[in-house]
Amino acid sequence: MSDMFDVVVIGAGIAGATVAANLGATHRVALVEAEEQAGYHTTGRSAAIWIRNYGPPDVRVLTGLARDFFLNPPADIGTDHLAVGRKVIYLAPPEQTGALDALIGQKLGIEEISLTEVQAMVPALIAGYAVRAGVESDSFDMDVAALHQFYLRRARQAGGALFLRNRAGRIERKGAVWEVETSGGMVISAPLVVNAAGAWGDEVARIAGLAPLGLVPCRRTAAIIDPAPYQVEHWPMVQSAAHDWYVRTEARTRLMVTPCDETPMTPHDVQPDELDVAIGIDRMQQALDIQVRRVEHSWAGLRTFSPDRSLAFGWEKTVPGFFWCVGQGGYGIQTAPAAGALVAAMIKGEDPGPAGAIIPAIDPMRFRAG
Ligand SMILES: Cc1cc2nc3c(=O)[nH]c(=O)nc-3n(C[C@H](O)[C@H](O)[C@H](O)COP(=O)(O)OP(=O)(O)OC[C@H]3O[C@@H](n4cnc5c(N)ncnc54)[C@H](O)[C@@H]3O)c2cc1C
Repeated sequence: MSDMFDVVVIGAGIAGATVAANLGATHRVALVEAEEQAGYHTTGRSAAIWIRNYGPPDVRVLTGLARDFFLNPPADIGTDHLAVGRKVIYLAPPEQTGALDALIGQKLGIEEISLTEVQAMVPALIAGYAVRAGVESDSFDMDVAALHQFYLRRARQAGGALFLRNRAGRIERKGAVWEVETSGGMVISAPLVVNAAGAWGDEVARIAGLAPLGLVPCRRTAAIIDPAPYQVEHWPMVQSAAHDWYVRTEARTRLMVTPCDETPMTPHDVQPDELDVAIGIDRMQQALDIQVRRVEHSWAGLRTFSPDRSLAFGWEKTVPGFFWCVGQGGYGIQTAPAAGALVAAMIKGEDPGPAGAIIPAIDPMRFRAG
């Protein structure tokens, strides 16, 4: 089967879905996904939290610009719970007070809070673990599945085509178009390719004959535990000021625990490591008096970082019609509404508005210098 489109987007995670949806009105879009299910990889494995004070400056700009979408989503978003408020508590043991001061010093909404107030919110807090604490009050849980499905739906409604179980295996520039041949036997031609392949971003570039950027997929592990007898539905997310563990409420009655691991990996269907699960629980238990009888479920996902940990959105300079949309790290969901709009504006050559200020900082070609 062969077909002609205006653009082939490779990868149907949140990055590819938002770009496809935002290009739909002006471009005939083919969204090509290797897996049977869009969102099978990192997008389906996140902690689903929007946090203003997270990531490098370019990420924070997009996080801030995305906020309004989450709080005032379109009527057809498909959920009443796209954003549900959940504070974040930062606990500082004696050796982490510098990290807490750095967080508060940003003056972006993290304020000191007394340990008595934390204890009232989180009765499991062990006296003596922390000497100080901070609270961030405008963060929220995100309904990631609803957000992702909304963008996939928008892309299809605009006439785009989603090809699941089609791994792009040959990507070749032939004259004025790219030819993308997939594992499903399709040959798709288009003048534009968008690389939204997450952990596979450099691999897709190599297939297209381009130099990699040096993306590093890093494993992060999560485990679900039963915190009974504690009722955790309204607990804040609780983490150390140095960000070496956190817990957040999952499905109202459970806690997700992570040691905030970042283990470099080659891209693959990553699985949780038992040692990381144990480390996460151990760190949590130094702060919270929670007995863990068993781990109910665990998973891992790849958070993929560029060499300077900022985003890499922009044109490849060595060949026409190849756009990078990679490096979303641990912030690809909370930035998604603004990131998709920015990338579409860059591709169309339109004014991206305030997001345009970060374009120089996120140019993927910064990694090609020298
Ligand atoms: C444990 C954990 C917690 C996180 N918590 C948060 C959080 O609280 N908030 C937040 O904003 N972010 C969080 N993140 C990060 C967020 O999940 C990612 O930034 C985001 O999902 C990246 O989306 P993506 O579309 O780039 O990647 P992916 O979802 O991985 O999508 C890339 C897709 O490309 C496909 N693909 C690859 N190669 C090819 C090919 N050759 N042909 C066709 N398809 C291909 C893959 O199959 C994959 O589906 C977390 C991540 C993890 C792992």
